[in-house]
Amino acid sequence: MRSLEQVLADGIRDIPDYPQQGVVFKDITPLLADHTGFAQVVEALAAAGTDDDGNPVVDKVVGIEARGFILAAPVALALGAGFVPVRKKGKLPAATYEESYALEYGEATIEVHQDAFTPGDRVLVIDDVLATGGTVEACLRLIRRCEAEVAGTAVLLELSFLPGRKRLEGEQLSSLLTV
Ligand code: AMP
Repeated sequence: MRSLEQVLADGIRDIPDYPQQGVVFKDITPLLADHTGFAQVVEALAAAGTDDDGNPVVDKVVGIEARGFILAAPVALALGAGFVPVRKKGKLPAATYEESYALEYGEATIEVHQDAFTPGDRVLVIDDVLATGGTVEACLRLIRRCEAEVAGTAVLLELSFLPGRKRLEGEQLSSLLTV
């Protein structure tokens, strides 16, 4: 079996100047197409939702649109937990809470269904890339507005030259790879 490091090195590629000049986009589609690598990554992300003995300790797993969905759904199944989508504004059909956060230019808004959680649910948040941390930070606010408890956040990849980790100081944050 390949090491997790090797799986991530094989499966995440840099696409320079996408979606705009100066940004290096981290493309995880090769990883998703590699079924043994994908399974290793799901297992490693799911570990963030277990105790020291490997027992699941979360009730819900949140996936942040869109690549977070792909990773979070199998993590939820692995943990025997429910899956909750956090989506960009305007995509969820029932009553929602929304939170906005600043982007380099402008603002983004994400939403969750108001009834997505039972108060007291322990929630693990999953996304692909942690960059400035604005998206995850807004997502944690949404979960807390629903009176659920944030158990932690796990990402595939953390960009250490951006302030994501600093912004999430005091939160439980694990990343499979830091660049
Ligand atoms: P941020 O809110 O700045 O932490 O950005 C995180 C969100 O933007 C995640 O949902 C990522 O999917 C996406 N993202 C940010 N930077 C990149 C990047 N360099 N490559 C791929 N996705 C990115």
